Amino acid sequence: MRTYRCQCGNSLFFDNSLCLACEREVGFCPACHTITTLLPDDDGQLHCGNPECGAVLAKCINYSQHAVCNRCLALPLAEPEGFCDCCRFNQTIPDLSVPGNLQKWYRLEAAKRRLFYDLSQLGLPYGTAADGIEPALAFDFKADVIPKTGLWRNGANTEQVYTGHEAGLITINIREADDVEREKLRVDMGEGKRTLIGHFRHEIGHFYWDVLVKNRREESFTELFGDPNDPTYAEALELHYKQGPPADWAEHFISAYASMHPWEDFAETWATYLSMISALDTADHVGFGGETDPIHADLSAMIARYQQLGIALNEMNRSMGLLDLVPEVLVTPVIDKLHFIHALVQQGRMENGVLKPHAQAPASPPNPPAQVQSQTQAPVTTA
Ligand SMILES: [Zn+2]
Ligand SMILES: [Zn+2]
Ligand SMILES: [Zn+2]
Ligand SMILES: [Zn+2]
Repeated sequence: MRTYRCQCGNSLFFDNSLCLACEREVGFCPACHTITTLLPDDDGQLHCGNPECGAVLAKCINYSQHAVCNRCLALPLAEPEGFCDCCRFNQTIPDLSVPGNLQKWYRLEAAKRRLFYDLSQLGLPYGTAADGIEPALAFDFKADVIPKTGLWRNGANTEQVYTGHEAGLITINIREADDVEREKLRVDMGEGKRTLIGHFRHEIGHFYWDVLVKNRREESFTELFGDPNDPTYAEALELHYKQGPPADWAEHFISAYASMHPWEDFAETWATYLSMISALDTADHVGFGGETDPIHADLSAMIARYQQLGIALNEMNRSMGLLDLVPEVLVTPVIDKLHFIHALVQQGRMENGVLKPHAQAPASPPNPPAQVQSQTQAPVTTA
């Protein structure tokens, strides 16, 4: 992740919506792809503060109305207001009448914007049905529905939300945005780290399996990851929760969960790939140096650099009493799978223009996101 600069000279970061030095509002300009000072003119119209750009901008609805976004749209818009190129994918947002949900939603959007930064870096295709992308990408941010205790019907009307992916729809249980809840789950699952951005990177892995592998490269996928139909996903899931992972999982997989089924192995390895890309990009921008170009770089050099950084940064975290920054160990079978994903990403980038670009967000989304959770829960294919 790169840093940006305010008109006043102060550094701006990707999540900023305000410059802490000059107190001007800032936001992401889609015309020049930077976090920039938002300069109002005499008519109150906002202009991009980048002198080489100067685009006329309007804040995303989720910026102006809820302060959970910091992105803008470039004028002219077809409608008086619209959703930005990240928020336009929201299908369900948390129920904002519930205390604490606005804060959780803010954290989810911040992580989602980083996901889209990763995808733009790599030039991967994605879009809505209106963009002609199949499957269409969408997000549901939902909470479990738990009836009030003490009711005789306790147990009825409950809806448990599973974080997962099905046919382009990524569902995240919003309790993952609660630090205490997420840390409890991390310990319960025996994970080295558990983060919101990690969830987005994992679930988008399932999405790209559908886009880039399904019905197209399944044979080479099966050679490396195993047959996803034997055992079936349901059988593998049951076995995983009954028996746990195999004792030697670390010799073959990036995580214990990856050993559950080839699709989970792919999503876990994909998430590791995106984490590596992001870490190398940030290391480059903050002056750690190294080969970081995610498009042309040789993967072996990137892996070597990531491992070198991981050792140094793990030690740094240990010296501060924090969890390891890079707890994963990249054994040879995992590196082979990363090579498969690296090649897949390059193919995805080449096909992006053919499939249809995601460059311009429509001025107004066809369906505004529902304000509250829908009552129906589609079954999730993968968790
Ligand atoms: Zn400033
Ligand atoms: Zn601009
Ligand atoms: Zn937005
Ligand atoms: Zn999964």
